[in-house]
Amino acid sequence: MLHNHHILDVDRAMPVTGDQQLLKQLNRMALVRQVSIQPGLSRAALADVLQLTKSTVSMLARELVDEGWLAESELLVTGEVGRRATPLHLAPDRLALLGAELGVDEARVVATNLLGEVLDTRIVSYEDAADPASCLRLVALALVRLARRLGRAAGAGTQARRVLGVGLGLHGAVDEARGVLRHAPHLGWRDVDVAGQVQLHFAGSPLAGLPLYMQNEANVAALGEFEFTDQASTDPLIYLSIGYGVGAGVLVNDRLLTGLHGFAGEVGHAILQADGPPCSCGRRGCADALIGLGSLLGKERPSHAALERLFARVADGERTTCAAVAAAGHQLGILLNNLWAGFDPMAIVIGGPALQLGDALIAPARAVLAQYADAALLTAPAIRTSHFGAQAVAVGAAALVRYRVTRPLDVQSIERRAGRPLAAARMADGVVMPA
Ligand SMILES: [Zn+2]
Repeated sequence: MLHNHHILDVDRAMPVTGDQQLLKQLNRMALVRQVSIQPGLSRAALADVLQLTKSTVSMLARELVDEGWLAESELLVTGEVGRRATPLHLAPDRLALLGAELGVDEARVVATNLLGEVLDTRIVSYEDAADPASCLRLVALALVRLARRLGRAAGAGTQARRVLGVGLGLHGAVDEARGVLRHAPHLGWRDVDVAGQVQLHFAGSPLAGLPLYMQNEANVAALGEFEFTDQASTDPLIYLSIGYGVGAGVLVNDRLLTGLHGFAGEVGHAILQADGPPCSCGRRGCADALIGLGSLLGKERPSHAALERLFARVADGERTTCAAVAAAGHQLGILLNNLWAGFDPMAIVIGGPALQLGDALIAPARAVLAQYADAALLTAPAIRTSHFGAQAVAVGAAALVRYRVTRPLDVQSIERRAGRPLAAARMADGVVMPA
């Protein structure tokens, strides 16, 4: 990707063509990504790793430090006499990413720094969950308030932060290029122009014109694990989200797999049991119908309160509920095996509200997976639980911003598919465009 770097020592006073601007952007963001993977790299080491000239790296690093992406730590004296290297790392205190989860019962907004450390988080209650316009308005206004708070220095020793962009995690199939939520079964929303409505509420606010990205909730949660945790080099990575339904976010070779229609990872409708219980999709024996919390609620209507009652029954060791959860855990083990066979992942991360069932659900799943691994004389992938817990989707939505902004070619190809820019101001990550 970086083979064109030698033409990039551009005199900034000269008119710059679109291609050169993109190439510079690629190199800037390659630098940011490398520093995020290997904090503490010096300029010389970066030039080596990225195969850029030292003067290009120096110029880009100076800009990125000025703009708040990178920070320098104190000088390290290396073994060679007279050679000193300044370690670079992502700056934790100058920029912010905003994320929101539009959940089924309520929404959550967060602000994180570049490293995914949560700076602020709020819960947004819906007025009417059946009305997407009112929900989107409340979430957009909560994001604007968050941006305003970040824009004010919080007191001695802190400074105002600049917001890089906004990410949204939606519980349904998302057409990211067009900014449309195609179908959210548990909310009953269909073909909602999320980007259009949210941008309307951003007009005249600090968020107007900033990049706005959106993805399915399991996809953004996968990105949260991928971008923001110590296991950032886990690839392929699968995030399995278990709530009322089941969904997966799949990252392979640094790419989020979205599929032809945005339905990739909808493993809730993978069939685990031929002629099993009926599923909301019309098939029988789907993972949703066997593992989803909706199936464990039985005849109760899905709601926050109903889930709390379910978790309480399990915590009390109520016999029939625990047996049902163990049966769901057994089916989860089968699903884990199938995901392992399908993607050969380094790790599968389990997240979502079902984590509150704890080992009642996870232990039987692990046991089933171990049996399959033994039978096949193979080592199963690592199974771990979500790093960000209840905030996984909102933090993941913030991670989506970092993921997209630091991969300008991907954004360009999404924009080409959509025939529209994903933001009014293309250079919102801080590049000053020559007139
Ligand atoms: Zn189904």
